[in-house]
Amino acid sequence: MTRENMDRRAFTKLVGLTVATLATQPLSIATQTSSPQISLTMDDFTWQNAVYQSATDRNKAILDVLNTHSIKAALFVIGRNVESEQGKSLLADWNKAGHLIGNHTYSHRNLNAPEMAVQTYNDDILRAELLLQPFTGFRKFFRFPMLKEGDTVAKRDRVRDFLAQHGYRVGHVTIDTSDWVITSRLTERVTKDPGADVKPFRDFYLQHMWDRAQYYDSLGRSVLRRPVKHTILVHYNLLNGLFLNDLIQMFKTKGWQWIDANQAFTDPVFSLKPKILPAGESILWAEAKAKGTLSASLKYPAEDGEIVADEMKKLGL
Ligand SMILES: [Zn+2]
Repeated sequence: MTRENMDRRAFTKLVGLTVATLATQPLSIATQTSSPQISLTMDDFTWQNAVYQSATDRNKAILDVLNTHSIKAALFVIGRNVESEQGKSLLADWNKAGHLIGNHTYSHRNLNAPEMAVQTYNDDILRAELLLQPFTGFRKFFRFPMLKEGDTVAKRDRVRDFLAQHGYRVGHVTIDTSDWVITSRLTERVTKDPGADVKPFRDFYLQHMWDRAQYYDSLGRSVLRRPVKHTILVHYNLLNGLFLNDLIQMFKTKGWQWIDANQAFTDPVFSLKPKILPAGESILWAEAKAKGTLSASLKYPAEDGEIVADEMKKLGL
């Protein structure tokens, strides 16, 4: 446990009795210090790229960790990944374990691409739905690929309307991360050298995720003036096949509380529809931008893979 975290916990205890009297303050001490709640949301379900671990082993490793910690995650599945029998069978294991299965379109296109037509995009959502519907854990939660929600008013609002008409809620991310950059460099390394030491990648991953979690948690508290139930973004990849247990354990050690994804999605933050352009990114980032008060300090895109890749290069990873 870090010193900073110990101090924070002690402080929370100390002020616990006076929180009720401070509830009417503009930003209460409870808002600043209460222990954050976090849930796991995993994107893509791209099992075909398995390296180092087989697809079956990776699937089992991730599910075993979630089971050990009694966490129900949300898995946002790209429809084309579950067309084959093997894809269906791997997803059936998630279904059996009681995780939430959400829609991540059939072909993972970027709504902000200038050539992306709304009709084509919406058809892609329904095409995924047909493949996911047979799984009892499927719920009408939609996650935008790359968290891109439209680069024009027409695209943004027409897709939002379409989702609402079809009974979907947006499965927003509150804590955006770049685990996909870290996994791609790790994959490159172990493909070249299967005996390479993977621990430095684990350490970098944990540090990156903790850094992003603190940033978005404090952004949320300043924008909404209350704690939110977080949905952290991770991907179905080698990094999580190897280190998901370490990730979950790290947050526990730092005093964060894991909750199920369907519980997190009851937070009113997930009903917000910030009217920004381009639309998307973390819902906390988007709301901060819509409110304008913090927009000067917000970079775009919110998470930039290049920066993380540069940090890793400097460390020889
Ligand atoms: Zn994705």
